[in-house]
Amino acid sequence: RRQQDAQLAALEAVTLDGKRIQLAANVGSPSDMTAARKQGAEGVGLFRSEYLFMGRAVPPSEEEQFAAYKEVAEQCGSQLCVIRTMDIGGDKPLHYLNIAKEENPFLGWRAIRISLERTDLFITQLKAILRAGAFGKVAIMLPMIISTAEITAARECVKQAVAELRMEGKAFAPDVPLGIMIETPAAAVMAQQLAGECDFFSIGTNDLVQYTLAVDRGNPAVSSLYSHFHPAVLALIDNVVKAGHNHNIWVGMCGEMAGDPLAAPLLTAMGIDELSMSAPSIPRVKAVIRKLEEKPIRELLEQALALNEARAIRRLMEDYISGQ
Ligand code: PEP
Ligand code: MG
Repeated sequence: RRQQDAQLAALEAVTLDGKRIQLAANVGSPSDMTAARKQGAEGVGLFRSEYLFMGRAVPPSEEEQFAAYKEVAEQCGSQLCVIRTMDIGGDKPLHYLNIAKEENPFLGWRAIRISLERTDLFITQLKAILRAGAFGKVAIMLPMIISTAEITAARECVKQAVAELRMEGKAFAPDVPLGIMIETPAAAVMAQQLAGECDFFSIGTNDLVQYTLAVDRGNPAVSSLYSHFHPAVLALIDNVVKAGHNHNIWVGMCGEMAGDPLAAPLLTAMGIDELSMSAPSIPRVKAVIRKLEEKPIRELLEQALALNEARAIRRLMEDYISGQ
């Protein structure tokens, strides 16, 4: 198995008819890059920047953040490193943010909502990312987006960050792509409008499933209802890929579904451009993709989208993979 993984690491994720899919890594800190490189990750599709903000008394400085982003960007070499801006909130209390106790932290003051109010923290983070862009290929990704207005407001903050860096005479990349996570039903439904305002999409299925099905992603009492094969989830994902491609932007995925080999045939048939996952999942997903062929997976997708139950779709996929 180890040897197989090592051989796969050197190969591309390409279908039998030549459709390439970028397989990137999800990382939580620079130390995760060792595993990512070992599995042949093509860059980083999700750098969860939260770890920099948690477990401390004061927010991280620009220099501290810059050092972390630069390290990951450099390790990505010529490949893209997508840095998600802080995705913290009610369920991850930070003393220095003074987040009030909330009844529904997952529906509360979190992620982009905090960033757009605490623009001091947001602009500091953006400056650190833009500076890392001088040492590698970085992109900015916004979490929990529900409207185009949030993207517009975030772009204003990027402008401000650029202006400050110019004044300070620091080296930075001026044209860093700005993408968004599609992890709320609102964003998935409004993908057409949102695609016109940003440079890429990355579908965050962990939250998208939670919000679409109204099933807490961490509550064992309802975990049997939590499935990324639910027809409503699949319909939203299909809509997002189409909307992104209509606007000529790339569409990736960075939730757990991206690392599920059972989902790879459906996502490939939908036309997903990139899948970002924890490094150990890369070989198994790659092995599945390398055996796919366009016509059968299109038929498979049609069949799947016609089914009403997550369980039935999952079974369809299990049968398909076991016959591969
Ligand atoms: C997601 O919601 O799918 C995602 C990738 O973000 P996180 O798991 O960090 O909420
Ligand atoms: Mg999320």
